[in-house]
Amino acid sequence: MSEETNTPTTNYQTPTTITPRTRFAPSPTGYMHVGGVRTALFAWLVAQKDGGTFILRIEDTDKVREVPGSIEQIEKSLRWLGIEWTEGVDVGGPYAPYKQSERLDIYTEWAHKLVDSGRAYADPYSKEELEDFRNSAIANKKPFLYRDHRPENPPVWDGTLPLRFKSDPKDYQWTDVVMGDLSTGPEAIDDFILIKSDGYPTYNFCHIIDDMLMGITHVLRSQEFISTTPKFLNLYEALGIDRPILATLPYVMAIDGKKKLGKRDGAKNILEYGYDGYLPEAMMNFLATLGWNDGTEQEIFSAEELIAKFSLDRVQRSPARFDEKRLLWLNGQWIRKLSLDDLYKRCANFWPESAAQASDNAKKQVLSLVQDRLKTLADLPLLTAYFFAEPTPDWTMTSDNKQLAKIPREELNDLLISAKSALENSDFDAESIQITLNALIDTTGQKPGVLFSLIRLAVSWAPFSPALNDTLATLGHDTVQSRLQTAIDAA
Ligand code: GLU
Repeated sequence: MSEETNTPTTNYQTPTTITPRTRFAPSPTGYMHVGGVRTALFAWLVAQKDGGTFILRIEDTDKVREVPGSIEQIEKSLRWLGIEWTEGVDVGGPYAPYKQSERLDIYTEWAHKLVDSGRAYADPYSKEELEDFRNSAIANKKPFLYRDHRPENPPVWDGTLPLRFKSDPKDYQWTDVVMGDLSTGPEAIDDFILIKSDGYPTYNFCHIIDDMLMGITHVLRSQEFISTTPKFLNLYEALGIDRPILATLPYVMAIDGKKKLGKRDGAKNILEYGYDGYLPEAMMNFLATLGWNDGTEQEIFSAEELIAKFSLDRVQRSPARFDEKRLLWLNGQWIRKLSLDDLYKRCANFWPESAAQASDNAKKQVLSLVQDRLKTLADLPLLTAYFFAEPTPDWTMTSDNKQLAKIPREELNDLLISAKSALENSDFDAESIQITLNALIDTTGQKPGVLFSLIRLAVSWAPFSPALNDTLATLGHDTVQSRLQTAIDAA
């Protein structure tokens, strides 16, 4: 077999002249995690930015790996994040169906075209024969290439044998918009399977047919597909079609940067973040900045800003690290940006049980106090439970506070007695309370750090609370008096 050594520059369209049609093409093999959703987001952004179309195609030709319910999970995950598709599985569109298992006739038709043009043939070998070829390659210290064993007279393909691509091994040089200029030699190209013996096409074959028929302009996908790209280039040529723009996204790595993010390192179901009190805006912001920035120091991006600013040429080539602390920080930032009414709506499932009977107004007032302190909506019970139910005094908590830990309990108790009597006659708006508290600092000679922490603890028995004067004003005069008395009695 002769191998051509000339180096074709493969055809591809330049990004500036076309209206993008991008797709997210997941296989329904389980839940969606951060890496997968980031690919979807970037593809969506490319389409949104230039008034293009984003398509959701389901690649379900590997029936062995399929997990029931995955398609619904994928749709739900994307929608939670705010990623909508204008063509795809459940919404239809001009190139329907968008589920590969419903397009088998189309792949068979294209497979026959390749057979007819002499670029595909039935694979007659048994598993054992293939194993022998592989073993002899290993014994000869050569890489195993199927094409070294191409049958001279393959049987007619009747759909029961695997169908293989008759490759044309050669050098390739191509440009990936993210990874840059790449090149490979003929050894990267082999006769891969187009249609398996079960009648289903391989990913290597059907994604190319679908991308072509669906008019996909940009293929965004993860790094794991980069080594098979020369095979795809070879198939584009055999089919006589222009290839789309290729954008290969580097892996998302675990925080240590050493391994690809796995389930154990936080690659959990993206929907779980929603159940854990993360906002989709924060998650979108986080995913977009996993390996992309706009060239400035800006860290907070809304969907609109991302659409306006995103570009593939600013996606980093090196792997991004999954930093869950950054996600938490972003979530806190996004919680602060919400209007009180909007935040209140989103908190519906997060209130402590003790708030069940509280009025909307009471809850909103408490929410306004803690909005700046929430990192996730799930922090709500810890930060607010004591507004709705009597806390149980726990004097051991004073030893968790560095300043209080140094002072004997009796002395702390005396301070509480003074505080109770000063507050008894105070007006109970936040401003008057502050004046009373300031006066108390003068009369007791205590540092605010000690006095305020102590009162805060005695009325809440919680590790955090909003500003003390606001907390006391919201609890009200009588509650504050009775809680201080309970604390004093428990000392
Ligand atoms: N079905 C492939 C996957 O789930 C998609 C790869 C691609 O986008 O072409 O990994």
